[in-house]
Amino acid sequence: MEERVVKHSPGAEPTLYHVSVRDIVRKPGSQREVSSTFAVPAVLGTSMIGVQEGATAELTASLEVVTDGIWVSGSFRAEALGECSRCLDAVHQPVDVSFEGLFLYPGAELGEDEGEDSVFEFDGETVDLEQPVLDAVVTSMPFTPLCRPDCPGLCDQCGARLADDPGHAHEALDPRWSALESVKDRIVRSDEKES
Ligand SMILES: [Zn+2]
Ligand SMILES: [Zn+2]
Repeated sequence: MEERVVKHSPGAEPTLYHVSVRDIVRKPGSQREVSSTFAVPAVLGTSMIGVQEGATAELTASLEVVTDGIWVSGSFRAEALGECSRCLDAVHQPVDVSFEGLFLYPGAELGEDEGEDSVFEFDGETVDLEQPVLDAVVTSMPFTPLCRPDCPGLCDQCGARLADDPGHAHEALDPRWSALESVKDRIVRSDEKES
């Protein structure tokens, strides 16, 4: 894997998902569009696969002030890196997800018709998009990452990569031999019956 250099510019925000809305809060109808490209400050994903720290990400979001808070919809693009669950090879997977959610004003009550999904809290000044991005990325990740759909995996006897050696087999455990063994058993048993 190539090394990515993470550059922190002086005075950068604590995390790059933060959007200040201090000047538009409580002004329903106000909107803000944000778009940025940055190095991901912390991994987004599962233990098997995820967007790794330092990976370049593109985040765009549209924020709209509504009665109870800030409605956010956006998209996030990056590349996830993980391990094939069968052969342990590196798996690179493009991530292109969209997300949306409501950042509820402090003390605001959630309306009855609003689901509890995708509701986030904020301090009334700064919206932090990391949680909705994380949720969307994790949801899009496969439970069992594969380097290719038909990855044959590793030999369970010696750990050899079967993709490199399609004819790989261990003689004693070759299924053709055990099939022959059972045929031989049947022949012996029918011989015994006849005699
Ligand atoms: Zn594989
Ligand atoms: Zn083997």
